Amino acid sequence: MTSIAATLGIRERLRQRVLPHHEAWRRQDEYAGGCLCDGCGERSTSARASYEVDFSPDVTPQSVKLHRARVKIWQYEGESPPIS
Ligand SMILES: [Zn+2]
Repeated sequence: MTSIAATLGIRERLRQRVLPHHEAWRRQDEYAGGCLCDGCGERSTSARASYEVDFSPDVTPQSVKLHRARVKIWQYEGESPPIS
């Protein structure tokens, strides 16, 4: 998948509210193997690890899983502040 396709996919998911625009509450910096990435729908593997990003309780969805490469795109497209 090219980064342009990934960007368009994430933009669409933001529009459909599959991915929230909200600032991340916390990020689980761990390998979430076997889970599907909410940014592109592909499975995460040890080579393409994912972050689990949680949001505050008033946000829907309350947590998403994203490939590491997708987190930056989502933050940029969603105009979210960077996760420190
Ligand atoms: Zn992905």
